[in-house]
Amino acid sequence: MKKQKLAILGSTGSIGTQALDIVRQHSDKFEIVALTANSNWELLAEQVKEFSPSYTLIGNEGHFETLKNTINHTEVISGSDKLPEIASLEEVDTVLNALVGFAGFESTVAAIRAGKKVALANKESLVVGGALITEELKKSKTELIPVDSEHSAMLQCLVGESMSNIEKIIITASGGPFREFSLKQMEEVTVAEALNHPNWNMGAKITIDSSTMMNKGLEIIEAYWLFDIPVEKIEPVIHPQSIIHSMITFIDGSSKAQLGLPDMKVPIIYALGYPERLPLETARIDWNKIQNLTFEPVDFKRFPCVKLAMDSIKLGGYAPAVLNAANEVAVERFLNKEIGYIYIAEVVEKSLAKIESSDSLNIETLKEIDKETRTYAASILK
Ligand code: NAD
Ligand code: MG
Repeated sequence: MKKQKLAILGSTGSIGTQALDIVRQHSDKFEIVALTANSNWELLAEQVKEFSPSYTLIGNEGHFETLKNTINHTEVISGSDKLPEIASLEEVDTVLNALVGFAGFESTVAAIRAGKKVALANKESLVVGGALITEELKKSKTELIPVDSEHSAMLQCLVGESMSNIEKIIITASGGPFREFSLKQMEEVTVAEALNHPNWNMGAKITIDSSTMMNKGLEIIEAYWLFDIPVEKIEPVIHPQSIIHSMITFIDGSSKAQLGLPDMKVPIIYALGYPERLPLETARIDWNKIQNLTFEPVDFKRFPCVKLAMDSIKLGGYAPAVLNAANEVAVERFLNKEIGYIYIAEVVEKSLAKIESSDSLNIETLKEIDKETRTYAASILK
């Protein structure tokens, strides 16, 4: 594999720091050209000292001066609005988009337009602008490789297969910390409990999304755009052990699954190396230990967010963008203890019910919809 020049957007986050661990293991294969963070300037400064990127962006402008005075030999840039410029830098081959939320959308589009290979962790990009991103990908010669473990599993099962032979995609979900909670118990859920995921250690937003299972809903939309499959053919199933990361059933009744420990480094390195596989020093499954792999159906009554997301894709147009914006606001309000846990779904449902039209989708209209929805979602249940 030719040495790849990387821009890591969101290098201080859960995905970003794990990606840097991979770069540490493979310094002959990857070179860091740009690193970006929002507010954790201390960690960003440490990363800059270790990886010597040519460009360093800090989103929160209040930290610009301090950061600039702490690091040398790198161009320090201030403001999240410059992220798309980082994503399209001449010197960059591959962009790892590990930003969280709608904040990552424009950078994905910019990277594709600039012909960069995109390793996409920021699933919200495809949720809000799947149509636009798909169109841009068709126009360009580049590729977008998913980092999300389920979609990486799907891609790995699909290598060598014809897309027309897919009968069904089975997307697995851990079920999160409240898998066995009754609706009554969910009324009492605290922020600390929701932030305590049984299998994965991730950023706060996706951890809450996993607990409401909105994460699975967003991932169904992500799979819809990545693999051009009708939603009816994407079936979520609960698999509490998070060993099977997803499966594909083909037209002859045969199914393929991808397995591994719950470890995001595996899908990250697969996306960075794709189509090659690179060695990774990380724990392996011990098949001589007794363990059970179990499956159960998703209960849409207790986890209405999955259904809301599936409905939004059927509604089409702006609906998934509205779903996403409302969810981002609802999650933030829950984390700030402004609304109770069970009201996250209600904020999303009410925001979706307000949609009027859904014509032309472009970056500007999507930004407007995102902004309008945020204002509305922040006002509900006040
Ligand atoms: P995180 O909160 O740990 O990190 C987010 C990163 O983005 C940080 O570096 C932060 O500084 C930066 N950032 C956030 N908002 C920003 C803004 N407005 N401007 C500039 N920078 C900003 O999140 P994470 O868990 O690493 O998740 C990142 C993405 O990957 C999300 O879309 C998530 O859904 C997806 N993902 C994460 C995991 C996981 O295990 N963490 C698994 C699958 C998918
Ligand atoms: Mg996932």
